[in-house]
Amino acid sequence: MAEVRYENASRIYPGTDIAAVSALDLEIPDGELLVLVGPSGSGKSTALRMLAGLEFIDKGSVFIGGEDVTLMPPQDRDIAMVFQNYALYPNMTVEANMGFALKQQGIAKPDRATRVREAARILDLEPFLQRKPKHLSGGQRQRVAMGRAIVRRPQVFLMDEPLSNLDAKLRVQTRTELADLQARLGVTTVYVTHDQVEAMTMGHRVAVLKDGILQQVDRPRTLYSRPANLFVAGFIGSPAMNLVEVEVGEGRAVRLGSLALSLEETVARDLAAAGAYTVGIRPEHLHLCDAGIPGEVSVVEELGSESYVHVTIQHQGDPLVLVVRAEGETMIQRGDNVMVGCRGPIHVFGPGGERIGG
Ligand code: ADP
Ligand code: MG
Repeated sequence: MAEVRYENASRIYPGTDIAAVSALDLEIPDGELLVLVGPSGSGKSTALRMLAGLEFIDKGSVFIGGEDVTLMPPQDRDIAMVFQNYALYPNMTVEANMGFALKQQGIAKPDRATRVREAARILDLEPFLQRKPKHLSGGQRQRVAMGRAIVRRPQVFLMDEPLSNLDAKLRVQTRTELADLQARLGVTTVYVTHDQVEAMTMGHRVAVLKDGILQQVDRPRTLYSRPANLFVAGFIGSPAMNLVEVEVGEGRAVRLGSLALSLEETVARDLAAAGAYTVGIRPEHLHLCDAGIPGEVSVVEELGSESYVHVTIQHQGDPLVLVVRAEGETMIQRGDNVMVGCRGPIHVFGPGGERIGG
């Protein structure tokens, strides 16, 4: 078991002048499941490969278990990786696939068999040990790939979008199993995904990357309730937070359409100057009511337990669409005239996208 640390670590690919990962500082305590999330090209895989030793580190260092491994070859780092494309050997049984790395390490047969059986038990793969991969379902194959990592008893698991090849339903089921498995094994894990829902449901903490730069690392709840900047605010949460540009005048009043918004004290205090800000309100903090901002319904998304109503209002002289969450089924239809009220926390972001008011 080991903690992991990136210290000011950068990767600049040859022939490029922008760092794919830029001055990354990140500490992952022993036993934690940390999720690295961000859009495609944000540097997630590069960050993981730097830790694995598969990518040169141009500046800074990485540590595993307190030891500086920046220059250590991958095979000496005591890590195991699970990728999206976990090619299993088609002609080998599940047992042979899982034991292969151990055989290469020169571990004796009885010991190999014990470790494989133990991993198979943890992963519910015991009945399938003598099968070939083609006789397994997608989810079972994914578990075999996990098994190959587990049998090595590494200090750290690195996983790069390991569920991407599974269909939506299986992905949801497997991510819960994986999180449960990680908790039982207690092995420090860095897990990469572009899917913010996967990140939020699996991660003990979630690190958000954009353009190679760490935006925020926090518990899922904190990322959701106190996003550090505009990017995190828009990236985390589905449907996304309503983000509205507002002109704040001398009186520091912040208006959404015809409604004056009441801000938290800390936010009001830190609105340093009049100017252009962005207000963020999550759909569940807006509601349809009798007295509020008048608007017209353009879309109703019925999800059964809840609905999302898209309402076009007038804001600073232009039409603006707000997404409003409604409980259960609604009788509302496209074309209806409604009123939108606000009852939740209001996030405010400054001209540089930074969160106002802490
Ligand atoms: P992610 O995994 O978040 O999609 P990557 O880490 O794969 O992002 O890539 C980060 C950035 O580095 C991207 O702009 C990508 O185009 C670039 N990149 C990745 N691999 C290489 C490479 N071998 N050579 C040059 N640029 C690369
Ligand atoms: Mg990637």
